[in-house]
Amino acid sequence: MENYDTLISAQKSFFRTDKTKDITFRLNALQTLRNAIKKHENELMAALQADLNKSEFEAYSTEIGFVLEELRYTASHLQSWVRPEKVKTPLTHIGSNSYIYSEPYGVALIISPWNYPFQLAIAPLIGAIAAGNCAVMKPSELTPKTSEVLEKLIRECFPEEFIAVVQGGVETSQALLIEKFDYIFFTGSVPVGKIIMEAAAKQLIPVTLELGGKSPCIVHEDANLKIAAKRIAWGKYTNAGQTCIAPDYLYLHKNVKEEFLQYLKAEIVELYSSEPLNNPNFTRIVSKRHFERLAAFLNNGKVYVGGKTNPEKLSIEPTVLTKISWDDSIMEDEIFGPILPVLEYSELSEVIEGIHEHPKPLSLYLFTENNSIQEKVLNSVSFGGGCVNDTVYHFASPHLPFGGVGPSGIGAYHGKGSFDTFSHKKSILKQTTRFDIPFRYPNVKNGLKKI
Ligand code: NAD
Repeated sequence: MENYDTLISAQKSFFRTDKTKDITFRLNALQTLRNAIKKHENELMAALQADLNKSEFEAYSTEIGFVLEELRYTASHLQSWVRPEKVKTPLTHIGSNSYIYSEPYGVALIISPWNYPFQLAIAPLIGAIAAGNCAVMKPSELTPKTSEVLEKLIRECFPEEFIAVVQGGVETSQALLIEKFDYIFFTGSVPVGKIIMEAAAKQLIPVTLELGGKSPCIVHEDANLKIAAKRIAWGKYTNAGQTCIAPDYLYLHKNVKEEFLQYLKAEIVELYSSEPLNNPNFTRIVSKRHFERLAAFLNNGKVYVGGKTNPEKLSIEPTVLTKISWDDSIMEDEIFGPILPVLEYSELSEVIEGIHEHPKPLSLYLFTENNSIQEKVLNSVSFGGGCVNDTVYHFASPHLPFGGVGPSGIGAYHGKGSFDTFSHKKSILKQTTRFDIPFRYPNVKNGLKKI
C-alpha cells in the first residue's frame, strides 16, 4: 500500500506557516483556480465527453458553469465570512465580549465520485480554500480522463504542499484514510460512506458525508401536470439519471396517472427525441457493471416508455416503469440510472408511511398547488432537502446548504455552507481586567453555599 506520510507532513508544515489563513492568499487562490478552469474549459468538456458522453450543454451547466458561479459567489462574500462574529454576552458575564472565530481545520481530504467528476471534486475544494485549509483531493478512478485534466489543472495552480491530487481507486483511498487528516469530506455511496466514517472515527477526524439514497418525487392530484412532467423528466434524465438527487421513483396519484404519464412521455421525446439511443447528447452509463445492474431492472413491472438499451455504447433509454411495488428489485436501492419506477397512491398518508418505512432520503420533490399539503409533507417527512413544484434545482442555490440527513449524509455545503463546513467555530470570551465580579468564587460571603 502506498504511503502518503511525506505529502501530509509537507501540507501540515505549510499550514503551520499561516499563509493559507491570509485573506489575500485565499482570494488569490480562488482567482487562480477560476482562471485555470476557464483556460482548460475545452479540455474539460472533451474529458467529460470521453468519460461519460456528457454533452457540452450538460458539461457546462452542471459542472464547469456551476463551479465558476460558486467561485464568484465565494470570492465576493469571503471578506465578511472570515470576520470573527460578535455574539451576545449574558449579564452574568458583564465586562466581557463574545466572539465566534472561524478557523481552518488544517489539512483536509476530499474524496469524490464519478457522476459529476469535476464539480463534485472542485466545489468542496472551493470551501476548503475559502476557509484557509490545505487539501488532498482523491478524484474517481472511473472517470480517468476528467481526473487527469483535474490533476493537471491543480498542479498548474498550486504547489503540492497546499493542494495536491492523488489518483487511484479503493486502495489509494484506504491508504489515505490511515493518515492524520484534520477533516474528511466524502461524496459517494452509502456503503463507502460507512467505511469512511469508521476510518475517521478511529482518529476522531470530523467528517462531511455527502451520500445518496432513494429520493421520492410525489405528484399529487392537484399538481400542474404539464410543468411537473417537464421538470421531472429534466431532473431524472439529466446525466442519464446518474445524479445523487435525481428523483429516484415517482409516487403518482391514481386520479391523474394516465394524464401525467402522457405528458411525461411527450417531455422525454421533447428533451431526447424519439430515438434517444441515437441522440449524441444523451449521457451514457459509466461502466459495464452499472449498465448490467440497471438493465436487469427493465424486467420489473411494465415498460411505459423507453426500455431499450445499447450494450456497446453503455446507453439506456429514458425509461418509465409502471405496475411497480416496493417488492420489486428496483425499489431496493438507489437506482442511479435513467429508469423511473412509478408507484400509485390514493391517500397522501400512504405516501408518508411508505417513505417513513425506508431510510431518510437525500431529496424529496413534491408537486401540488395546495399549501397545507406542502406543509404536511415538509413537516412530517425527514429528508436532506428538496423542492416543491421542481426537482434538483435547490442544489444550485448558494443560499441553500446542501446535504443529507442520517443515512443520506452528514453535514452540508455550497455557498457559505462550504466555508462553514471547512471551518471550526471557535468560541472566544474576551474578559476585562478593569474589574472582577466576585460571585463565582467559593470564598465570597453570601456567595455559593460552603460545603
Ligand atoms: P463510491 O462510494 O463507490 O466512490 C466514491 C469514492 O470513494 C471514489 O473516489 C472511490 O474511489 C472511493 N471508494 C470506493 N470504494 C472505497 C472503499 N472501499 N474505501 C475507500 N474509498 C472508496 O461512489 P460512486 O459510485 O463513485 O458514486 C455514486 C454514489 O455517490 C451514489 O450513491 C450517489 O448517490 C452518491 N453521490 C452523492 C452525492 C451527494 O452530493 N450527496 C453526489 C454524487 C454522488
